[in-house]
Amino acid sequence: MHGLMQEYPLTIQHLFTRGTRLFPRKEIVTRTDDGYHRYTYADFAERVQRLANALTTMGIRPGDRVATFGWNTYRHLELYFAIPCMGAVLHTLNIRLFTEQIEYVIADAEDQVIFVDADLVPLLEKLAGRMPTVRAYVIMGKPAAETTLAPAYDYEDLLASASAHYDWPMVDENSAAAMCYTSGTTGNPKGVVYSHRSVYLHSFGVCMADSLGLSERDVVLPVVPMFHANAWGLAHAAIMTGSKLMLPGRNLGGAQLVEMIEQERVTVPAGVPSIWIGLLAYLERLSVEKPIMPDLSSVRAVPCGGSAIPPALMRGFDRFGLPLLHAWGMTETSPLASVSRVNSGALDGTYEEKLAIRSKQGQPVPGVDCRVVNLDTGEEVPRDSTSVGEIQVRGPWIARAYYHDEGNTEKFMDGWLRTGDVATVDADGYLQIVDRTKDLVKSGGEWISSVELENLIMAYPKVLEAAVIGVPHAVLQERPVAYVVPKPEYTDQLTADEILEYLRPQVAKWWLPDQVLFIDAIPKTSVGKFSKRELRDRYAVEGAATAAD
Ligand code: AMP
Repeated sequence: MHGLMQEYPLTIQHLFTRGTRLFPRKEIVTRTDDGYHRYTYADFAERVQRLANALTTMGIRPGDRVATFGWNTYRHLELYFAIPCMGAVLHTLNIRLFTEQIEYVIADAEDQVIFVDADLVPLLEKLAGRMPTVRAYVIMGKPAAETTLAPAYDYEDLLASASAHYDWPMVDENSAAAMCYTSGTTGNPKGVVYSHRSVYLHSFGVCMADSLGLSERDVVLPVVPMFHANAWGLAHAAIMTGSKLMLPGRNLGGAQLVEMIEQERVTVPAGVPSIWIGLLAYLERLSVEKPIMPDLSSVRAVPCGGSAIPPALMRGFDRFGLPLLHAWGMTETSPLASVSRVNSGALDGTYEEKLAIRSKQGQPVPGVDCRVVNLDTGEEVPRDSTSVGEIQVRGPWIARAYYHDEGNTEKFMDGWLRTGDVATVDADGYLQIVDRTKDLVKSGGEWISSVELENLIMAYPKVLEAAVIGVPHAVLQERPVAYVVPKPEYTDQLTADEILEYLRPQVAKWWLPDQVLFIDAIPKTSVGKFSKRELRDRYAVEGAATAAD
């Protein structure tokens, strides 16, 4: 017997139409180089339709890939909706990839048009003549005449000459809506293709009270780039629910973030830990210099993921009344897969007990099925907070294949996505990531968690950032080495011995790093995570020499 309910397609058109019809007066604000651009959902709706008409005139048809190369702005948001709603596929290019990788992903996706922010044009111009699939460039922010990319059009001219009404076509909910390439630390980036259905369902997942709980009352600040895993689904979820949006543009320093949060009464700023480490350092400096601190009391949650939140960061944010909300996911999972909230049974616990829960990666959100598997036996590990295994997930917003690599059974196995993240799971199903499989330090047949060592070192008050890598060792296979960035006021004082003395009572002897090396800043990946690959390369050149000294 079949159910008798309507087969209503789950498409981004619904998210767009609902938000713009019900909340026409809601604001979308963008921080620009010379101030704030603000307009309403009604203005947004009109411009999205103009954009869809302009794209149709340019010859874009359903299924065609249209790329963006830009910051988080209202124009990028318009592209986020116009492209999929007309049946084409939005491809958000990561502006921080190496030129060769950008060239590769443009060719792999067969992008036909690229929308590029004016200040990023020089980056794309490096590829002039090497983007054979691209038929046109649209420059956002400045007249198109100033580029060697050809043919180039001005975004505002295109919109001005297009009609303000567009009848959205019927779109199959399983058709592609958007593409994101993984930041891939090895090999070429891999294309993840989101469908309308997956984006739609993921938006609901983001809005559930026990996940990020986005609502009409929120003011959402996606600091996470719009090219990183669909801005974590925040743009779609915000428009669907009618949240006010604060788009930060390109300046993401502590002062700018504080200004946006205070001025626009942001309730949900979201970004990776390295952004918040910068903001915390800024607030700490400010609290010494200024008698009156900025008013950040509007913030109700700071969703944070992309890498583990060091507990020291969480404590620091708590001191300023900014509650970090730990979430885990990956490009392949749309990305939201788990969120760590303190449940009713644990609310009476001490601060430390609750901090320990919040520091975990949390429980899978409804819609995501999850298991932690021992890679040797293939069995699920016991839920004992100790046994480690790989997290594997499945669900309607989890990728089942990479673009142009559909036979990849190493990553996608029996309907499960193998995440490559190694974790423990407790009796309540909270995941705690120990490491990436490839970042675990394998020392003398035992594993050392680089994440745990980093978190401990970053809890030392004189330390700003720390990253631990495994380096080759003749006897033990690998040994941990720590790269440490002291806070500016301790640059000349902090010593390796001091760090080791501080660690000694807290870890097993064989966990102590063989070397502690100081560095000006931990190198970051294209999406702001600590780049361990760069550190390993660096160590191969200079660190090994230090060890030999
Ligand atoms: P990406 O696809 O670039 O977003 O990277 C996904 C990877 O980031 C995951 O597989 C994890 O290794 C890591 N990651 C994401 N969120 C977290 C988190 N909350 N804690 C630890 N690692 C994380």
